[in-house]
Amino acid sequence: MKHIQLCTSCGMFTMMPRCPSCAKTAITTWPPKYSVDDKYAALRRKAKAMVGV
Ligand SMILES: [Zn+2]
Repeated sequence: MKHIQLCTSCGMFTMMPRCPSCAKTAITTWPPKYSVDDKYAALRRKAKAMVGV
């Protein structure tokens, strides 16, 4: 199962551990490691839809 990574800097989705756009650290969007933070809830749902989970 593939996990899309989300760049915490520019919000770009990537499969790489680091953002190919700005080289900042990308975080795994699913399963959420930051469930208490609703800031990325919408992005997380978007990423989840992208991988077809
Ligand atoms: Zn980025």
